[in-house]
Amino acid sequence: MAENTNAFSMAQQQFDHVADLLGLDHQVRELLRWPLREYHLRLPVHMDDGGLRVFQAFRVQHNDALGPNKGGLRFHAAETADTVRALAMWMTWKCAVADIPLGGGKGGVVLDPATLSANEKERLCRAFIRELWRVLGPRQDVPAPDVGSNAQMMGWMMDEYSRITGQYTPGVITGKPVGGGGSLGRKEATGYGVIYTLREAMKCLNIDSTQTTAAIQGFGNVGQYAAKGFISELGGKVVCVSYWDREDRAAYTVYKQDGIDPEFLMNITDQYGSIDKDKAVQADYSIEEGDDWITKEADVLIPAALEGQINAETVKNIHERVKIVAEGANGPTTPEADQVLMERDIFVVPDFLCNAGGVTTSYFEGVQNDMNFYWTKSEVLEKLDDKMTQAFKGVYDMAQTQDVFMRDAAYMVAINRVVKGMELRGWL
Ligand code: NAD
Repeated sequence: MAENTNAFSMAQQQFDHVADLLGLDHQVRELLRWPLREYHLRLPVHMDDGGLRVFQAFRVQHNDALGPNKGGLRFHAAETADTVRALAMWMTWKCAVADIPLGGGKGGVVLDPATLSANEKERLCRAFIRELWRVLGPRQDVPAPDVGSNAQMMGWMMDEYSRITGQYTPGVITGKPVGGGGSLGRKEATGYGVIYTLREAMKCLNIDSTQTTAAIQGFGNVGQYAAKGFISELGGKVVCVSYWDREDRAAYTVYKQDGIDPEFLMNITDQYGSIDKDKAVQADYSIEEGDDWITKEADVLIPAALEGQINAETVKNIHERVKIVAEGANGPTTPEADQVLMERDIFVVPDFLCNAGGVTTSYFEGVQNDMNFYWTKSEVLEKLDDKMTQAFKGVYDMAQTQDVFMRDAAYMVAINRVVKGMELRGWL
């Protein structure tokens, strides 16, 4: 039977498995298996040439027992209602595992953002807010950037919301530009959070991080700062990064045995995470077509692109040297591939723990917006390190005491907190 890579069925399958382990009541499962609310939109937007384009968009609010819904807005041509549902559900677990008082939400617009001009993007962002503003707000639902969206787009959305409500409301959205209500350290936060949890994993496994190498899939926001952090915080070497070339419609792996220079590669990478191949070759990088990142001899794999990338097929290609998979992306590993990782005793730092640095710093951004007082970058990163370290320890302790896989342990910590939150509010 073909492997099911539908993200929402995967998210439900992972949840069902842990609900069994926890012996959750049937009605509680019914509440948590599905989003509490969903909005499906058609957004008419005028293009620069005078024509009209209608965009399909979603906002899903999975569960807000612990606080306002929180989650990014993904602008991607392959976006579907099910992907957004899965991502919203994972946000609920992510906020709970990071122990921040927020619920789970996610949004998406079906389009390739590179096909729009800046003005068209601005009109689309403002149209999205005009349709949804009634169900958004610092105490209701707080979007943020994700794949295909960026700080400037968040700035436009915050402005539209503030205009409609007649009140400057920076806390309605996070990931805003610094100086426009954004937080220092947000740009680095997800990638660095991956590294903080990886550092803790290496301590538990008695691995000397300075002797390690990593292979990374994806060289966008998460991949870039994970690469930087792997070198600056852990003293390790990154041997390759891969990316999706939008012109060639193909994946490439950029490889250097002696270790890549993330700063150099960032300078030749466009805003969508595509690397200039010619410039990389001139600097002695080798370029391989395809998904070879996963086959590389490395101690750590960091998937930081999209979901379903480590699956029943690709998992077979993981090199025997790999000891840890640190999931920067959301849902990069299918349940079938998880089985193989477990059998091979590869330690997994699961996605909603590993990449919780982004939402944690988004939470810090909201706190700073509420106070109207802003922290320095080192204050933000210090607080982030503290939160990520605590979150990792909570999950690792659960894995040890219950003798379960790290992903199951993360789900157990998160589900317990959400169920407790629902009980305290009298929902159950
Ligand atoms: P991004 O758009 O900045 O970068 C994505 C990168 O992945 C790009 O380099 C792109 O070329 C590459 N890519 C896409 N498809 C690929 C493929 N098939 N093979 C190889 N490379 C491919 O996105 P991002 O913000 O870095 O997010 C990456 C992942 O991390 C997503 O799963 C996202 O949901 C998750 N995430 C992001 C954040 C955040 O703060 N940005 C927080 C938590 C989780």
